[in-house]
Amino acid sequence: MSDLEPCPVCRNKPSHPIKLPCNHIFCFLCAKGSILHNQKCPLCRQHISLSFLNNPQLIQTESISENTHLDNDYHWFYEGHNGWWLYDEQTSKEIENAFQQKELFIEVLIAGYIYIIDLEKMIQYRKGMPNKLRKIQRAKTDTNVKGIAGLRTHPHSRSNLVQ
Ligand SMILES: [Zn+2]
Ligand SMILES: [Zn+2]
Repeated sequence: MSDLEPCPVCRNKPSHPIKLPCNHIFCFLCAKGSILHNQKCPLCRQHISLSFLNNPQLIQTESISENTHLDNDYHWFYEGHNGWWLYDEQTSKEIENAFQQKELFIEVLIAGYIYIIDLEKMIQYRKGMPNKLRKIQRAKTDTNVKGIAGLRTHPHSRSNLVQ
């Protein structure tokens, strides 16, 4: 499992890899961006329904709970369905850097869309759509975390992980 092909979208080692119904493998966020965009596999253009994202088939390369164990650093969260969700690691680091530099806002790319992270008001919104706000927060603990960037973590259940 450790030698997955690079993700065809971003050319990196797939992060949180998922397998689409057509058996193509992508990073979760790369696949999500494409499915939200046109409901198609980025490689073979097979139709993928939006509901696939509700119960994605993860390929287990390492346990998500291990992967998301939080160290003593600050992490960034956004308010989602019934709780706080951790940004993916890369985005969280970008936001933390901007925060340390005392920037008022930064733009980040999430699932193919540009989001404005407003570090003064502690909100995020999609660029050009300032009415759909989500609260964000900076925190050290993971007690209320629901998952990473839309992926739920189930420390005690791997029912939707492909072994
Ligand atoms: Zn990718
Ligand atoms: Zn495909």
